[in-house]
Amino acid sequence: MRLRNIPGAERTIQAHSAVIKRPEDQKGCWGQVFGNQHPVRIEIGMGKGRFILNMAKEHPKINYVGIERYSSVLLRAVEKYDTDEFNDLTNVRFVCMDARRIEEVFAKNEVDRIYLNFSDPWPKARHARRRLTSAEFLDRYGNVLAPHGTLEFKTDNTELFNFSLEQLREAGWTLKEFTCDLHHDEEMNRGNIMTEYEEKFSGKGNPINKLIAAGK
Ligand code: SAM
Repeated sequence: MRLRNIPGAERTIQAHSAVIKRPEDQKGCWGQVFGNQHPVRIEIGMGKGRFILNMAKEHPKINYVGIERYSSVLLRAVEKYDTDEFNDLTNVRFVCMDARRIEEVFAKNEVDRIYLNFSDPWPKARHARRRLTSAEFLDRYGNVLAPHGTLEFKTDNTELFNFSLEQLREAGWTLKEFTCDLHHDEEMNRGNIMTEYEEKFSGKGNPINKLIAAGK
């Protein structure tokens, strides 16, 4: 994601009703945020929000929380939310934070599903722990995911995909399904919502990998 400092981004998102300002205060209470007890699904590293907003639109009985580290990027998701296509959605919220803090924001079993889409690859070996599918992050996810919960991960980056499969195995997760060519896998591609990066990279002819895994 190319980052540009956008003056006023922080102020704009802090003033927006769909942005949760002190997400740690909602730990264990996300049902109250949404005013119902529907399942809570989160996207970590949401980027500009296309995936989560379309998911929220397609699945009104699911609550979605989009997590993004940078306010300048989250601003784009908020601006998209404000368009006529999405501004009546009541089942989506945004959080600006580093996913390392996920256990401060969600209680044990509070999350029904985690989506990771086109996560940053961090190609240097010394940065492997920063990858959102590293064993360290998987342990954090395991502490918030419900017993039946799943992690869904898409990427065009084969090295990152193979690393993720390895980390899941090492961390004791169960691989439920996977494909190395999502857009030509009729079953796994059913209902697929493209992310910004997915459109860009599949447009260049890159096959998209996807896995679905369940925690320990
Ligand atoms: N998911 C979007 C898509 O598929 O179009 C964006 C992909 S972009 C390559 C990765 C995004 O993840 C960036 O916006 C980045 O800021 C965010 N990100 C990376 N590490 C993060 C972390 N530790 N916590 C929260 N967001 C993170």
